[in-house]
Amino acid sequence: MADVIDEIKSRLGIEEVVSQYVQLKKAGRNLKGLCPFHGEKTPSFVVSPEKQICHCFGCNKGGDIFAFIQEVEGVGFAESMQILADRCGVKIDKDKLENKAPKSEKDIYFRAHDLACDFFEQQLCTTTDGKKVLDYLYRRGLKDETIKEFRIGFAPDQYDALYPILLNKGITKDILIKSGLVSAKNLAADSVYDKYRARLMFPIFDAVGRVCGFGGRALKHDQAPKYLNSPENPIYNKSRVLYGLNYSKKYIKEEDQIVLVEGYFDVIVPYQAGIKNLVASSGTALSNEQIKMIKRLTTNVVTSFDTDSAGIEATKRAYNLFQKEDINVKTVTGIDRKDPADFVLENGEKFKELINKAGDFMSFIISKIIGENDITSISGRKKVVRDILPYFQGLSPTTRDFCVKELSQKLNINEQHLYEEIESYKLPANHPMRKSVELAEAKISLNKFSIEELILGLILENPNLFENSNKVLDLAILSQWTKNVYNDLLQQYNSARENFKNWNFETGFLSQDKEKIDVLRLYAEELYNGFSHEALGIEVEKLIDRYKKDRRAKVLSELQINIEEAEKSDNKEKLRNLLMEQQKILKS
Ligand SMILES: [Zn+2]
Repeated sequence: MADVIDEIKSRLGIEEVVSQYVQLKKAGRNLKGLCPFHGEKTPSFVVSPEKQICHCFGCNKGGDIFAFIQEVEGVGFAESMQILADRCGVKIDKDKLENKAPKSEKDIYFRAHDLACDFFEQQLCTTTDGKKVLDYLYRRGLKDETIKEFRIGFAPDQYDALYPILLNKGITKDILIKSGLVSAKNLAADSVYDKYRARLMFPIFDAVGRVCGFGGRALKHDQAPKYLNSPENPIYNKSRVLYGLNYSKKYIKEEDQIVLVEGYFDVIVPYQAGIKNLVASSGTALSNEQIKMIKRLTTNVVTSFDTDSAGIEATKRAYNLFQKEDINVKTVTGIDRKDPADFVLENGEKFKELINKAGDFMSFIISKIIGENDITSISGRKKVVRDILPYFQGLSPTTRDFCVKELSQKLNINEQHLYEEIESYKLPANHPMRKSVELAEAKISLNKFSIEELILGLILENPNLFENSNKVLDLAILSQWTKNVYNDLLQQYNSARENFKNWNFETGFLSQDKEKIDVLRLYAEELYNGFSHEALGIEVEKLIDRYKKDRRAKVLSELQINIEEAEKSDNKEKLRNLLMEQQKILKS
């Protein structure tokens, strides 16, 4: 294993791997780009060819090539290895990988979902109730091989069908509850029961085709909810999954186009008819992560959501999000009141024609809203403008100009007036279009390292600063983690003092520390880019001085609180000690 990891690392540089996803620009010794993990306008994503790591100082994500691939592709370690091995032509012995790779919690979740999927598939084909459901699937136009390929199944109308089977296979109750495969009234064993009952089961796959969740469609009229979806768990994050992507990825790349639909059938039925570049967002609003996943495959998006108001809302939101990411987005019109699955069932290949004829969403909206109002009256025209204004938010200037022109012609209104309306229009606070922007911004957790960590990073990056810092820094005041690392450095320094000049700190730290240390070094490097050796020396002293002052202030304020408490409780002995301590610090 270790050999393979080294082999892959020797063949693939971090800059090479990252640049397939992020446009990088040289910045000193490092490269910089827009972070692929959070939305940002100024680059805080740094790639260090020397350290062979990347790190985002906005959202704190990154690591070596394996960590990067795991994050960006949404896969586990083993898959990241496979992806990179394929990319550089290293052969991996799969059995070895499976046996040696530690069974992580995620692996257990995947196994539970796979076993459950097997069970549901088998129920569909071998039970009497299952066969009725199978007939329903035939009526909706599905063929046996399609049902098999998408692993569609059936959860029987029973409380204890799946649960005992999975328990028997060694999956714990805890994992089953967290996966949402079973429910529990309380923690007693007999109160646990199957969560999916009398439902058509669509397994949801991750990007490499493993079952990571389920969407269970109600089969009885009085059943709620209509779709019961897996809860978030260690392997299922709904904002990072696009239904069907594992099947359609190849075709999306080939055709350089992706068609976004709403439901499972809308992916499966066209797929069976040979229109294969589809994915579904499964009823949830598109997340920034999903948009990034799409952007990696293509920049040509066609949406084909339902034409009800929720569908329009979803289309509108997608339109704005894609525009912001410079993705071409078009909207299918002409399937009227049907969803794509039904349309394909009746009209087959004609859906492909509609996709190719897909037009601009704003043109569609303008026609639609005009169609809903009486534009021969002034009040009707005013209402059109009022209804359309929210859609102008977030448009690129080119698109906006285009739409203004179109609208002014159709309503016979002066363009300048429309621009003024747009300028003065403010979105209401609860408007759905505002939310996408705010969510993206909330995701950026501001990254801050403590002063002592910064000192450590600077010293690690510039070992020759150590000698001096060592004279002024009192180890006792450091927090535990920093102290441990610093102690390690001290030992290295003491044992190599003679040839200290051309010497570097060993990187033999514990692996969990190594990652943080690399990031601290990269941070210090970025922050003090271009500082001379002397300037760095002064900087370290300043930082140490500031750290001491902060630390002193903190200790004093804690003492003050304790003193006040001792006074209140009239503990004279304690009070005397505390006051002495306080005096000592104040004099120092
Ligand atoms: Zn980031």
